[in-house]
Amino acid sequence: MTDFIHKLKENITDILFPVRCPYCEKIIDKNEYACESCKKQFPAPSITKYCVGGFPCTAPFPYEGIFKKAITNFKFKNCGSYSKQLSFVLVQSILESFPEKTFDIITCVPMHEKHIKKRGYNQAKLLAVECSKFMNIPYEDTLEKFKENKIQHTLKSKERAANVKGVYRVTDKKLIKGKRILIIDDIITTGNTLGECARVLMKGGCKSVNCAVVCAVTEF
Ligand SMILES: [Zn+2]
Repeated sequence: MTDFIHKLKENITDILFPVRCPYCEKIIDKNEYACESCKKQFPAPSITKYCVGGFPCTAPFPYEGIFKKAITNFKFKNCGSYSKQLSFVLVQSILESFPEKTFDIITCVPMHEKHIKKRGYNQAKLLAVECSKFMNIPYEDTLEKFKENKIQHTLKSKERAANVKGVYRVTDKKLIKGKRILIIDDIITTGNTLGECARVLMKGGCKSVNCAVVCAVTEF
């Protein structure tokens, strides 16, 4: 009977909240990560970029077309539920780009508390938590954004480095000491934000930092 009720609840949830393809918003099977037509548009291989400070960053997609649309929905249209589908592809990219690497902790680029309240979620954390489940590596909040700054994409590229300085700090140095960290964000543009987070983590005593994002802006 309990099984029956559980199944019934699951079916009702599937009908009320069907899983959608993050790239075109068509309804897909709940175990799928994209529709067949969007999958055909997935580029291969992953894009590799280097953040400020030389930290490697992998991305499955360029920030354009259907991939840009998926990120926009994910961030601004309260489609936080896309994190599972987007993370599935993100994990493939991480495994492809860092095949020899073992990570002790998965973390994310933090948002200021005020902005989390406004959006209701930190999209980078949703992605990082899903990656943590797929990869079976613990997720930890290692950084906090304790100062508000201007939104990076509103600034010219040379202003971006100064804008992220001194806004992040490590929450618990004991937690990261000697650890190999994988940090997740949704997009990389100039690499200033991820580079600053990686620098703060390294200064805080971790062993290494690798980065992964869903989309990479290839030209800016
Ligand atoms: Zn699709």
